[in-house]
Amino acid sequence: MSRSYEDIPLTPISDTPSTVNMTGLWRVFRPVVDLDKCRKCTLCWKFCPDAAIELVDGKPNIDLRYCKGCGICANECPAECIIMVKEEAE
Ligand code: SF4
Ligand code: SF4
Repeated sequence: MSRSYEDIPLTPISDTPSTVNMTGLWRVFRPVVDLDKCRKCTLCWKFCPDAAIELVDGKPNIDLRYCKGCGICANECPAECIIMVKEEAE
């Protein structure tokens, strides 16, 4: 049975990133999204603790300047279309 966004409990969200702290510098793993599998449910956007995700036509666009690589979006995605990939050492 499919669910709509109205079935999902309200969650606290932040609507702006931490513009003082470039939390992307903390990142060890980065999220990679398979947009073809995205169901536009918006859960990744709702759960990102640093508002690093912008929705473009309902699908996530991740701002790596603020993504700290916590993996919450990948954990919450019901379509399993976000994977965490280790950053390459520079
Ligand atoms: S890994 Fe996902 S939830 Fe965590 S900061 Fe980056 S975009 Fe947000
Ligand atoms: S949680 Fe997954 S399916 Fe939902 S909008 Fe984000 S990437 Fe798409």
